[in-house]
Order: sequence, then structure tokens, then C-alpha cells
Amino acid sequence: MESTLKRTWSEIDLDALIHNYRTIRKRVGDNVKFLGVVKADAYGHGAIEVSKALEENGADYLAVSSIDEAMELRLNGIKMPVLILGHTPKEQVGRLIEYDITQAVTCLNKAEEYSEEAVKIGKTLKIHIKVDTGMSRLGFLCEGEYFDTGVNGITKAINEPNLFAEGIFTHFAVSDEPGDECRAYTEHQFKLFTDVIKAVEVRSGKKFLIKHCANTGAVAKYLDYCLDMVRPGLLLYGYGEFAKELGLKPVMALKTVVSTVKIYPKGTKISYGGIYTTEKSTRIGVLPYGYADGFFRALSNKCELYTEEGFAPQRGKICMDMCMIDLTDKPGIDVGSEIEIFGKHNPIETLSDLAGTIPYELTCAVSKRVPRTYIKDGKVIGRELLLRM
Ligand SMILES: *Cc1c(COP(=O)(O)O)cnc(C)c1O
Repeated sequence: MESTLKRTWSEIDLDALIHNYRTIRKRVGDNVKFLGVVKADAYGHGAIEVSKALEENGADYLAVSSIDEAMELRLNGIKMPVLILGHTPKEQVGRLIEYDITQAVTCLNKAEEYSEEAVKIGKTLKIHIKVDTGMSRLGFLCEGEYFDTGVNGITKAINEPNLFAEGIFTHFAVSDEPGDECRAYTEHQFKLFTDVIKAVEVRSGKKFLIKHCANTGAVAKYLDYCLDMVRPGLLLYGYGEFAKELGLKPVMALKTVVSTVKIYPKGTKISYGGIYTTEKSTRIGVLPYGYADGFFRALSNKCELYTEEGFAPQRGKICMDMCMIDLTDKPGIDVGSEIEIFGKHNPIETLSDLAGTIPYELTCAVSKRVPRTYIKDGKVIGRELLLRM
């Protein structure tokens, strides 16, 4: 579905995505497979188009968080391997097998359930074992006194009938954080991961084809942790300090237009709550962009958005569907002028820092009523609106 109005939209630069993909590939070397993390609708960039671009350019694997996200890819023609990182109920094993989707297995109990279902169907489910080495989220617990139970559990899991354990992986908790303590923590996680793999391979006599752990932080800072496959998300989309260091480009730009301009006298309160009062005669532009589009209300009266005449301060509380900016010293910016919320001129990191969060949260927050424009070879190749029309 195409959007019919020019209100607020995102521009997804697939050329930047492919540039980032190739740059990361080059960095990790030819012998390392590339898994693109496309969970959460590719961090708000559009999982189908992002996956298609990665598939065309020779990526090896995709990762999503649920079977619904995996099915979206399959039903839209994506053929490459897809790994579900999160939980899938055992009732869905038939669909996992039918659509050739790889499932993370996070404990022995689930391995047994999945195996039982696969045996009933008479087919094999492809799995990757998840090891908890210090993220304290999903995975076989293998730390300290749990090492033996963990290794035994994994060994049992991969020997369950009708499961094919193609891979094994873990997730770093602080690989993207600075400081010696975080370095030591990450080094410990990596050592524990490789120790677990060795012990399982010895005990089971089986080898894992794909061992993987490197997220964005690790690809940027721990290049010797790439193992058989890297698993970057944020880096692929070109945000954060590491992306900048590696010469990657931001994939998303979020834009809007000025819908109304008015001049208010000194002493006028702007928006809900009246937290901003004009200090002189003030020219205010209304933007059709509010927290229901993915703006953060916490940024009210704190941030600046980019106009063709430079940065304009945002004034007053951000509303559900609108917000106001100060155009007093920007006479050329008028109704219909384009405003960059974030993008090349106004880096997303400025806004996420101001909001006390990370760029991931801002791109994921862009809501379904914000249509996407996809750009490839410098040209618009598609528009997409997620409203059910
Ligand atoms: C989200 C996720 C990633 C990607 O993380 P980034 O920080 O975006 O690189 C990798 N692995 C797992 C298990 C994840 O959940």
C-alpha cells in the first residue's frame, strides 16, 4: 500500500545498507559467514526489503525474534536461512520444519519438546544451541558450578532424535561498552563459550558447523571473536560510534514537512502544559510528527530538528500527532518545507543521547503510520505504508 499524503516519512537508503554490509564483510574476512539481524522489522527499517537486499548481496543468514517475523520473510519470498533467536511454542515445530526455519534452543526441556514434535512429524528440525555465558537471559547456563550441568544438557539436547544442531551461539552483554571491566567480562564470556563448545564436542563426538557470538560491539572491538559467523544488527544499519569509526552510513532518515506557520506575540504559551513561553514575537511551525509517530515525549523542549536554514529548536510539549518548532530566524522555511528529524544532518545519536537512550530505540519506535520510501541506486524503488487499508 502506498501512502497518499506527504506527512512524515522515513527514507531507507538500501545503498547505505549494502555499503555497510560489504564494509563489515571485508572487515571480518571471506571465511566468516554473515548473519544480518532483522528482528523488530529490521530495527524499524523494513525486514522484507532489508532481507531482500542482503539476500541479493550474498549474506548467509538472517535472524528474527519470533516465528511470526520468520514467516513474514518466508511468505515474502526470502529463501535464505533464518534463525529465530527467541522462544517458539512446540506446537509450531511443524511450521518451522515446513518453512525451513532454524530455531534457537535455550534449554534441555525445549530440546526434548521440539524433538518429540519432530519425531511425530517424521522430519528433522534445524537448531542452534544458545549458551548463557553472562547475558543472563536465554540459554543453557554454563557459568562456574553450572559448567557440567550445562555441558551435559547441551550434549543431551543435540543427541535428541530428529534435531540437527547446525550451530551454537552466545550473546555478549557489554561488548559495546568501554573500560577494562567490560573488556574482562567479554573476554570471560568468550572463553567460557569456547570451553563449552570444546567440552560438548568431546563428549558428543559431534562438531558444530556454525559457532557464532559477535554482535555489533564484538565486530567493532573484538575482531578475533568472529568464529564462523558474525551477527551484527546496529552496525549494519550504520548507527553508533563504531559505525562512524568504520566508515558506515546511517540507513534511515526520518523527515516531515511544516504544516502550519503562525507568529505569536511575546508571552504566548506553546502546547500542552505551557512549558514554553515565547520571549519575543516568535514564528512557530507545526510539524505533523508526534509521539504516535515515534517521537519521544521526553525530548519535549530539549531537541533541535534540521531545516534547510539550519537547526530549529523544538518548543513546548510534544503531542501525539504534532510538535512545534521555532522558525523565527528562518524566514525561508515555510508551509511545505522539508524538515529532517534525524538523518545525515541531524545524527540520530544526538537525539538518542538527549533522550537518555540508544539509537535502536528511536528507529524501532517509528510507527506503522509513517510510510517508508526505499532508495536503491540513488532512486526511489518503492514506498510502503503499513496501515491496513
Ligand atoms: C539483537 C541481537 C543481536 C544484534 O545486536 P546488535 O547490538 O544490534 O549488533 C545479535 N545477537 C542476538 C542474540 C540479538 O538478540
